[in-house]
Amino acid sequence: MSHHTARALDGQEATPVGVALLGATGSIGTSALRVLSRQRDRFVPVALTANANRAALAAQAAQFSPSYVGLVQECAEAPAEWGRGADCLVEAASHPDAAIVINAVVGAAGLQATLAALRLGKRVALANKETLVVAGEIVTRTAREHGAELVPVDSEHSAILQCLAGRQPHEVKRLVLTASGGPFRTWPAERIAGATRADALKHPTWQMGSKITIDSATLANKALEVIEAHYVFGVPYDRIDVVVHPQSIIHSFVEFVDGSVLAQMGVPSMELPILYALTWPERVPDNGVPAFDPVALGGLTFEHVRHEQFPMLGLGIAAGRTGGAAPAVFNAANEEAVAQFLAGTLSFGGIAERVGQALQDLGRLPGDTLEALLLADAAARHHVQSRIMQES
Ligand code: NDP
Ligand code: MG
Repeated sequence: MSHHTARALDGQEATPVGVALLGATGSIGTSALRVLSRQRDRFVPVALTANANRAALAAQAAQFSPSYVGLVQECAEAPAEWGRGADCLVEAASHPDAAIVINAVVGAAGLQATLAALRLGKRVALANKETLVVAGEIVTRTAREHGAELVPVDSEHSAILQCLAGRQPHEVKRLVLTASGGPFRTWPAERIAGATRADALKHPTWQMGSKITIDSATLANKALEVIEAHYVFGVPYDRIDVVVHPQSIIHSFVEFVDGSVLAQMGVPSMELPILYALTWPERVPDNGVPAFDPVALGGLTFEHVRHEQFPMLGLGIAAGRTGGAAPAVFNAANEEAVAQFLAGTLSFGGIAERVGQALQDLGRLPGDTLEALLLADAAARHHVQSRIMQES
């Protein structure tokens, strides 16, 4: 942690730490602004970006008066002083007054901004897990080379980070990520294959953006998270497991070499992991979520993953193990297939079919440079796109 951040945490700080928030208008973005509003003594938003939602971004800009505002999509009504185009993500992430960048963009579109912030030695509070799936080696190496901190916002990874506090890598036996199981946890395979958009958008425990909500229904999200955990914590794939936990109260487990297991728990609110990513390794007082009441929870239950009904989990983990460009292909094919499902041009079952085909055809592409990974990403999108066009 930089001395800058540390000074702010003791609460005596005159100048709060500047935060750039990418994807400010989304589910994580708006949760992050609620956290920042409660923590005005410690943190101040200095840059905000959105993709297309000009009206929501303008309202946030009016409320928080950041010195930089950026909108990716062309929009005639956007104020002239706003940054525009995809470059605005990198501009916001490089803002000189931002010691911390919260990356809450959805998809591989967040990658360049993550890298730009890390190259400048900033802390990246990372919700944008796709960044690590596309280019995990490069992103973690960039962080190391520039002494920058990559702190996960994802609730499972935040849980693991909290359980690992003060421990050494050789003391860790296994990471166990929990998964809610999504809306189709108990459905038979045939019914899942024909699930509608409305069915898939009904997540049982979390309110999130539409892309990650579909990923939670296919369990692709858990595959992305296994890959994310591999890179964030440097743990090999054969020591990362997944267990279904429908209540989403235990956010993950760490099993240690002596057989002891730690779990982190709390009500399902992303405001907790967002705040922790800002203050890690310290904790600060906050009253953003309802008090924890174990009795009101009722039971906590656990189940095996039904891999046969949810092939995306196995496909994604296999891509992670393959390495090279395979995780980038998995991610890009999934992004494209989910977009098609949301647009009504692909069935739910079609998502895993398309992603499986893309991995079969493109999974061995080289992935040793950023350029190679971006080419694989584009090829995978095109692969899924052209198949859908052939059949419609
Ligand atoms: P949302 O769809 O709700 O929000 C996405 C944000 O990114 C919006 O501000 C959107 O702008 C912006 N955006 C979308 N596409 C682009 C693009 N191509 N370039 C620049 N900005 C873009 O997503 P979530 O907040 O749910 O998720 C964000 C990230 O956090 C994802 O990686 C997700 O996996 C991860 N995450 C989310 C969790 C959650 O609870 N929501 C939990 C754990 C991880 P606009 O509003 O203008 O479209
Ligand atoms: Mg998660």
